[in-house]
Parts: sequence; structure tokens; C-alpha cells
Amino acid sequence: MEMSLLTISYLFASITFILGLKMLSHPASARNGNRLAALGMAIAIFATIFLYESDGKKLGNLIWIFAALILGTVVGTLAAKKVKMTAMPQMVSLFNGMGGACAALISVVEYNHLLHVQEPATSTLAIIFGGLIIGSVSFSGSMIAWGKLDGRVKDFVFKGQHIFNLGLLFFIVALATYRIAWHGEIWMMYIILVASLLYGIFFVLPIGGADMPVVISLLNSFTGVAAAFGGFLYGNKAMLTGGILVGAAGTLLTILMCKAMNRSLMHVLIGSFGQTSAASLSGAASVGGSHKEVTLSDAAMMMSYAQRVVIVPGYGLAVAQAQHACHELEKILIDKGVDVTYAIHPVAGRMPGHMNVLLAEADVAYEQLVEMEAANELFPQTDVVLILGANDVVNPAAKTDPSSPIYGMPILDVELAKQVIVNKRSMKPGYAGIENELFYKPKTSMLFGDAKKVLQDLVAEIKSM
Ligand code: NDP
Repeated sequence: MEMSLLTISYLFASITFILGLKMLSHPASARNGNRLAALGMAIAIFATIFLYESDGKKLGNLIWIFAALILGTVVGTLAAKKVKMTAMPQMVSLFNGMGGACAALISVVEYNHLLHVQEPATSTLAIIFGGLIIGSVSFSGSMIAWGKLDGRVKDFVFKGQHIFNLGLLFFIVALATYRIAWHGEIWMMYIILVASLLYGIFFVLPIGGADMPVVISLLNSFTGVAAAFGGFLYGNKAMLTGGILVGAAGTLLTILMCKAMNRSLMHVLIGSFGQTSAASLSGAASVGGSHKEVTLSDAAMMMSYAQRVVIVPGYGLAVAQAQHACHELEKILIDKGVDVTYAIHPVAGRMPGHMNVLLAEADVAYEQLVEMEAANELFPQTDVVLILGANDVVNPAAKTDPSSPIYGMPILDVELAKQVIVNKRSMKPGYAGIENELFYKPKTSMLFGDAKKVLQDLVAEIKSM
């Protein structure tokens, strides 16, 4: 009876994961989708603690289990409450890494646990090593990704790095195969663990610039697969479903991001460091010329008398926390009869969907956001494009400069509009560290200042007109 209640709980949890994931695909239902999946996870955890039985015995060590649960809950809740929207990608990376570490630790613990009795079967060993390798790579890779996004770790490239990486991967797979198929030495597991951790580090270190979002989503899918191995090991269906869902969703997102950036995954993983180094060494896209500035009142005038204004939000808007001020400007322009739309680039900001989340927070209607392709069709009939703290996603070097680290990434073709106003604080580059020729084009005017302050001043200016 209890066993079947456990199975029902796992089934219920699995259903909440699937429904939750589905609900995440629309901003209006995303929050509840997250809550639903979290509820399912809580049920799966407590069902395991109280209902799981092995050889007629329930789980012991309840004090340890609850101490860890409480500690994890407190740390997780505080961290999630404290984190700034701009530091969200780092946090996602960190949490993802923890998932990978859990999967790897499960493998280490179960390996030793099973060895106490006898050498595990080949299939069990294969599952253990699958979780160990993928979980460790995901853990150390995510830590490096976290460090990079947080500005603590710099890109690191050395000659022959991809050969070294391939060699290391081959070594890991060969040693694991030997241990599994020919029942090699017990200690080989620790060598595989260390080598996998090293591989995760060297795998992410050279990848930089515009390719980071793809790597984060790939590591996410790794953690899912590693967790699914844990589900196999324990015959735990909720863990298996959860792992497979994360693995599949992460893989799909990786493919979509690659498409959005017009890169193949192989190119991102192996080709990117050559490009990054070439760009940083040659100082690619050092563009010259002079830029012109626009005053607040002129910018306010241009937008008020426009028929259509398209706003391009970027990372700087998130830094300035200017989403509410931006919504204010949008409303006041709409009141004046201007058609206002937001053009959303798939990698604007620092995480997938960053701009959608940011604007949803300020109650911007979802219908007003248009995706890149649709926006590019809209620009020729646009009077003014207002770029707010975006840089790489509107950089023409992605189309014209093969030595640029963002070369090949589709961009928002803002130049097709009649006029372009760029708001940022200086002429400094964005995430990819490269200059932007757009700022020197005759159609472009710079409106310097913190995005929030500038937007508030623009609203005040338009009100007083
Ligand atoms: P960028 O990072 O290219 O540019 C942001 C600009 O915002 C900067 O040039 C900065 O200029 C300006 N800025 C910073 N603070 C403020 C402020 N307070 N007020 C006004 N402006 C400000 O941003 P994009 O959104 O255009 O591009 C995103 C980049 O991040 C891409 O290269 C993408 O590949 C990468 N990336 C994306 C991820 C994703 O999943 N979306 C994940 C990881 C990386 P200044 O200092 O002069 O103000």
C-alpha cells in the first residue's frame, strides 16, 4: 500500500514537472508553472523520506536529512531573494552546478556503497560512471561559467587547447570503459572524477563573448542527464522524469540559441576560442570617426512626433533597473498616438529571456514585444529606434567583420529605421568587448546617461511639451 502511494506521489510529481514546464512557455503562466513544479518536487522529496522502503526498512538518518534540507532551503531562499536581476544568470549557473555536483556525489557514494557488498554489475557501473562524468563536468563547467559571468574568471586560451581537451575526454571515456567492461581497479573511479572535473574547467574556460548563453544552456542539459542517471540507479521515477525533462529542455534551448546566433554547436565549442583570441589580439573592429549627441528635449521631440517608435532593450536597461521608467515612457508616447513596440533580441541581456522577464516585471504587455525577425521587418517603417543599454545585439560587425567574436550572430537591423537614438553612459563596449560602428553612423545620435535617469527625464520633458 505504502509502496503504491510512493509510486502515485512520483507520478503526481512527474505530471507537475511536465505541466510546470509547459506553463513556463508563457510569461502570464510562468510564475504559477514554477510554483506547481516546486510543489511536485516537495511532494517527491517528502514521499521519498517517509514512504520509501528498502528490505522492509524505512530511511534512517532523519536528523541529518532534515538538517541538510533546512540548511539548503535557508541558503537557497536567502540567495534567491537577495540576488539582483542582473546577477540572475550567475545564480542559474551556480544552482545548475550544484545539481551536477549532487549527481556526481550520488555516483561516488553509491559506488562505494555497492562495493561493500560486491563488484556491481556492468550495467550498474555504466550508470554510475555516466552520472559521475556528466555531473562532474557540469559542476566544474558551471563554476567557471559563474566566474566568467561574474567577471571573476577571464577567458583562458593556450595553443593546442582543443587537442588537449579532446585528449582528456578520450582518456576519461577510455578509462571508464576499461573500469566498466573489464572491471578494472577500484581507485580508477577517483582518477575519472578528477579528470572529469578538469575537463569541465578546460571545456568552458576558452569559450567567451557571445557564446556564453549557449554554454550555460548546454551545461543545464548535462545536469539533467546526470540526474536522470541517478534516477536509473535508484529506480526513482520522479528523478528520472525530472532529469530527462531538464536534459531535453536544455538540449532544445541549446539548439534554438545556436540558431539564434547562427552558429553550429561544434563551432561554439571548438571554434570559438580561435575567434575570441583573434579578435582580442587584433583588436578587431576598432572603428574610428566621431559620434554626435542629441539633447533630451530633441530626443523627446523626435519621439513625440513620430508615428512609430521601436525600443530596443539591452543589458544596460537591466543594470539601471529602468524597466518601470521605460514602461512610463511607452505609455506617455502611446497617449500621444505613437505606435510603440519593443524589439527583443534572443540574447539581449545576460540570460535567455532576460528582457522578457525584465519587461514583464514592469507590466509591459506581452503583445508589444516582437522577436528579432519581425522587428527587422518593422524597422523600415519606423521613425525612431530608441536603444536602451543594448550594444552587441545591434552591432553591424556581426554582419560585416569576419574577425569579430560576434560575427555570424543575427542582429537587430536598427539602421533600416529613419533615426536611431542610443542611450548608454559612455562609448565603452558591451559584453563582447568590441566597438560598435553603429554609434558613428550619420543616422545615429547618442543620448548619454544612466538609462533610468534618462528615461525619467524624457518622460518629464514630454509631459511638459
Ligand atoms: P551589451 O552587454 O552588449 O551592452 C550593454 C551596454 O549597456 C553597455 O555597452 C553599457 O555601456 C550599457 N550600460 C551599462 N549600464 C548602463 C546604465 N546604467 N544605463 C545605460 N546603459 C548602460 O548588451 P546587449 O544586451 O546588447 O547584448 C548582450 C550580450 O551579452 C551579448 O554579447 C550576448 O551574447 C551576451 N550574453 C547573453 C546571454 C543571454 O543568455 N542573453 C548570456 C551571457 C552573455 P556603458 O558602459 O557605456 O553604459
